[in-house]
Amino acid sequence: MMVIGHKSIPLSRLRLPGTFAKLMAEPRIEKRATSIAAWGIIHEPIVRRSDWKVIDGLDVIAACFRLGREHEIMKVIDCTDAEAVSMRLEANTQRRHDTQEAEQLRDQQWRLFLAEAQAPKKRNKAGSGKKGRPLTDKGRARRALAKRRGVTPETIRREEYRRKEVSKDLFGLLPDEPTIETLGMDLEQKFVGEVNEIQKSLHKVDYVIRRGLAHLQHIRSAKLPFPAELLDRLYAALAEANQSIRASRPASLCPWCRGLGGAQQYCVSCRGNGFVTEAQLEGAPKELLSGDDG
Ligand SMILES: [Zn+2]
Repeated sequence: MMVIGHKSIPLSRLRLPGTFAKLMAEPRIEKRATSIAAWGIIHEPIVRRSDWKVIDGLDVIAACFRLGREHEIMKVIDCTDAEAVSMRLEANTQRRHDTQEAEQLRDQQWRLFLAEAQAPKKRNKAGSGKKGRPLTDKGRARRALAKRRGVTPETIRREEYRRKEVSKDLFGLLPDEPTIETLGMDLEQKFVGEVNEIQKSLHKVDYVIRRGLAHLQHIRSAKLPFPAELLDRLYAALAEANQSIRASRPASLCPWCRGLGGAQQYCVSCRGNGFVTEAQLEGAPKELLSGDDG
């Protein structure tokens, strides 16, 4: 979540829910309008810049509409759908506790958490060189590697896919070669073994956390007597840990030092370890990712 700032926003710009007209007619909105007319807005509504969705303060906005206002100062933020739901839930808990809305939000929150924790990573789908789509860095590296090996990029992609499929669900059953981008380099056996061991270990942690998430979900779906807010917090903590674990996996030979003796130990990108994560790989300049290193 990122706060952009407090800005005057035309009410007409906001994306309002289908139930907004019904909300405007609620008696509490009239009370709120009277209060705003007397005291102004005490808590500014929070809106998301990307789609002008109202994250919090729909009552205030409904009251402003009733008062015939055109602009209001709002807190403008950027956030994901999951963050938006969490913020609304938090606001609901802090103010008027609407159990029905809270229950709906909690359902939504769990679905988003689950979707995030279990979503296959987007990068895997990108760069398959489909028509009309620009080649990603990974796609370019794949093409270069294919050229060196004298096969098609599709063969390399299938190989990667098979390795990923194998590693997806089978606990500890990873192939003996690491699933990292080699950037066309021949890797030392020792390095390959170590990276594979790191990948296996992180894979196991990932698996254990996912099992943990499933157990927490059981507490929820079996409606066991356990504080819902606490369960949400535990779930969020595990889901976040899982994201961190996944983000830490070695994804590529370090494009900056390429694991070369003399360079690697001083390399700030991989901190001397010889490999980088997927996020680092994404941030690497294109020219470093070519397999045509001569
Ligand atoms: Zn490096």
